[in-house]
Amino acid sequence: MGTALVGAIEAGGTKFICAVGTGPADLEVSPPIPTRSPEETLRDVIAFFAGRGVKKIGIGCFGPVDLERAAITKTTPKLDWRGVPIGTIIQRALDVKVAIDTDVNAAALGEHRWGAVQGIDDFVYLTVGTGIGGGAMVNGRLARGLAHPEMGHLRLPRVKGDRFKGVCPLHGDCLEGMASGPAVAASGGAYEADYLAWALMNITCTLSPKMIVMGGGVMKTKGLIEAVRVKLKQELRGYVPAPKLVRPKLGDRAGVLGSLALVL
Ligand SMILES: [Zn+2]
Repeated sequence: MGTALVGAIEAGGTKFICAVGTGPADLEVSPPIPTRSPEETLRDVIAFFAGRGVKKIGIGCFGPVDLERAAITKTTPKLDWRGVPIGTIIQRALDVKVAIDTDVNAAALGEHRWGAVQGIDDFVYLTVGTGIGGGAMVNGRLARGLAHPEMGHLRLPRVKGDRFKGVCPLHGDCLEGMASGPAVAASGGAYEADYLAWALMNITCTLSPKMIVMGGGVMKTKGLIEAVRVKLKQELRGYVPAPKLVRPKLGDRAGVLGSLALVL
């Protein structure tokens, strides 16, 4: 009673997914909407919500996102989408309130509300897939400042003898350049656990999270999370405790549920 109907948009680089509902047990999800031009894609998104009486919509968006302007930044590698004020477009077209954050921050919030880190107010969510992104909850709030964190672009030492140049168009051999899905495909990924463990060490020394949720397609590699766990512990040398590494619990629904969590 009195609960305003809320919606969610998982805005991904290859597909958008929309939903209306209140949580995992009560969620009506749209078929995937392929990401094309902003006009074509958002037309389908708006059509899904039209006439449903939704009052608020959370958008978990591929980035980088200009959080102040509720827009995709002019630096996104998706050229058609540079500078698109996605939040404002949705808000005006559907006459709703909009909350926008990065896809990874949304997923972090979803895991906090319904998934692997319920009741944990200091954690990091790292996704290792086509790209690498991280969201941090500190004292119960998602960390954001000048922009949102971009943990995928941490600088790391090199494994001795590794000649791989890295695939990040901006930095070459940053974390994403060395350990993302495309990097593993190009390099063979022999040092995947080393690079991930070093990144987690830097994150641990900076934020001291109690848990780190490791999501994304690359983390489904057999034995990888176990190898990272061992290596992280070794690298910390017992100086500070190692955070618990866990897998996400929301699976395929993490993006859309996280987007919903932005407005609940
Ligand atoms: Zn980079």
